[in-house]
Amino acid sequence: MSRTVDKLWNGREVAARFRTMVRERADAFRRRYGRRPGLAAVVVGDDPASLLYVAGKARACQEAGLYSEVHHLPATAAEEDVIALVRALCGESRVDGVLVQWPVPAGIDYERVVSAMDPARDVDGFHPVNTGVLWRGRPALVPCTPLGILALLRAYGVSPAGRRVTIVGRSPIVGRPLAGLMLLHDATVTVCHSRTTDLAAATREADILVVAAGRPGLIGPEHVRPGAVVIDVGITRVDGRPVGDVRTHEVAAVAAAVTPVPGGVGPMTVAMLLANTVEAAFAREEGRVPRSQVWLEAGDAVAGRWGA
Ligand code: NAP
Repeated sequence: MSRTVDKLWNGREVAARFRTMVRERADAFRRRYGRRPGLAAVVVGDDPASLLYVAGKARACQEAGLYSEVHHLPATAAEEDVIALVRALCGESRVDGVLVQWPVPAGIDYERVVSAMDPARDVDGFHPVNTGVLWRGRPALVPCTPLGILALLRAYGVSPAGRRVTIVGRSPIVGRPLAGLMLLHDATVTVCHSRTTDLAAATREADILVVAAGRPGLIGPEHVRPGAVVIDVGITRVDGRPVGDVRTHEVAAVAAAVTPVPGGVGPMTVAMLLANTVEAAFAREEGRVPRSQVWLEAGDAVAGRWGA
């Protein structure tokens, strides 16, 4: 058991290091421009998980020295009202980043809402322009969970270059943007989904296996090549506790490393949201396009600190 515990990566510790770097950059921004980098979050409806996530993001902003505001609209809000708010926030001088918490109530088209955003303030990286430039190989603002996964790998000294990466899940939030980011970083990428036949054959090919299916315990040792690195993105509440898609300890017996749930990818996602907001703020003041990649480069300065 203790040997498998040794293989668990500490996302909380790596994320804390990134948040310290964000704080330093936010302080530098404030000294230079006389204001703090600002994030505006919009939440529509009363989904308890969404309200909790947004409150957590606002708290993280405060701790990192960022300005934040939360706009809570009722579930009955019209799509046009949400779009109008997003447009208004993108015109606010103290707001550098805007996000609309997913999911939104039925009747509101999330794609339309996100498309109404200024791509340079789209700190979730979901705007079609940001999706497009990532797939063109010139990333601007990259979605936070894929960015966090790359940052975590690099912090532990694992480069995707030349490696076979299998991703389970093709959502616009995790699987698809991660595939684009992994290609950009010279990995050979396979993307699996619910229609993949013989999932285990595809996952056993992987040097780096990333699982984002939202199916608790989907991945066991039979899915993993000995010595692979396994990144568990899944978070499903089971009896009130967060559970990942990977049977962590069973998989740790064959893998080189596994990320735990909680305490793996989750903290990295929030850290990257702060990082994207600070980068969007500098880019706006400097009159250039924001680049999430600067945070991967900044993180390399501390890479290996947590490595085996
Ligand atoms: P999603 O939109 O539901 O997408 C799930 C993906 O997994 C889909 O592409 C689906 O295939 C695929 N899938 C489902 N069951 C499968 C199976 N048995 N075999 C192979 N593929 C399967 O979910 P998401 O938003 O990407 O989130 C995925 C998980 O990550 C959730 O648990 C979510 O809570 C978690 N998450 C965590 C973070 C974090 O910060 N740690 C961030 C975002 C999401 P189809 O496309 O064919 O339906």
